[in-house]
Amino acid sequence: MKARVYKSTGSWYVLKNESGAQFNGRIKGVLKIDGITSTNPIAVGDWVDAEPENELEQTVTITGIHDRENYIARTSPHKKVQHHIIASNLDQALVFATLREPRTSQGFIDRFLITAEAYHIPAIIVFNKADLYREKELEKYAEYEDMYSSIGYRVALISVKDGRGIAELKDMLHDKTTLISGHSGVGKSTFINAVFPDMALRTQEVSGWSGKGMHTTTFAEMFDLPGGGRIIDTPGIRELGLVNITKQELSHYFPEMRAVINECQFNNCLHMNEPGCAVKQAVNDGKIHIDRYVSYCTILDSIDEKNY
Ligand code: GDP
Ligand code: ZN
Repeated sequence: MKARVYKSTGSWYVLKNESGAQFNGRIKGVLKIDGITSTNPIAVGDWVDAEPENELEQTVTITGIHDRENYIARTSPHKKVQHHIIASNLDQALVFATLREPRTSQGFIDRFLITAEAYHIPAIIVFNKADLYREKELEKYAEYEDMYSSIGYRVALISVKDGRGIAELKDMLHDKTTLISGHSGVGKSTFINAVFPDMALRTQEVSGWSGKGMHTTTFAEMFDLPGGGRIIDTPGIRELGLVNITKQELSHYFPEMRAVINECQFNNCLHMNEPGCAVKQAVNDGKIHIDRYVSYCTILDSIDEKNY
């Protein structure tokens, strides 16, 4: 049987087959993937092969894993350790942000975008809590919308509270597998609760399992969208780690910089103080937004080459 992984606790997996039937799955012994032997090799979003163990309890043994189209991993602090895959087979990744209560920094958004670029996953930026925005925040939103959409990212303004923008956002999620990310407090759970009826199931499952309501599970989980599509919620993952990116590579993950870097005088240009830099020229010409360039410089500075 072919099935997709909806939830992983590290030892047990919740699977659904192609007709939507749900199973509990586990691995017996070890599973070898890409030549690497691991006791926890499976991620939410994976397609696996499974064989029934016990039809009554609907328990299956996972016997193999299909090739991943893509994935997102949590950066391992130790380079030699196989990095932990958070989710796989994604169509897009969505970051929730807010301009009030709390205010999400541009640095956070840009780091998310870099990660999505590095994994070749299209990104969407959603600003929530529009109901709280005053003139100042609405202006800031308009600036962000301009800046990010000119680079090619989709940007949305929503309020889960008053419903604004929700229909458009649902359209963006339709028939896609979407990873949802963002700081805590920005409204992800409220959004998922409002939009996905099978969310109630999670609360129930988790409380039954731990003996009390434990809402802050750190395991990723996938939910079916009514009408088609899936979202993957990744509680406990504040920020997608910057994958092992070197200073030299960083500008490749800024699409607006990537477009001009081959015009730099030096091919190892870091776009800081080098003469003949096409990126700095584009910033001066207003073709690259100064705030994105500042973000680039800050992130460049934070990359510690010794780690790579
Ligand atoms: P999460 O940590 O990202 O899952 O955030 P939560 O869903 O727990 O939401 C954090 C707080 O923001 C809660 O008190 C929500 O009621 C509130 N909240 C969520 N969406 C909105 C919104 O659109 N407008 C306002 N004013 N509050 C919201
Ligand atoms: Zn340059």
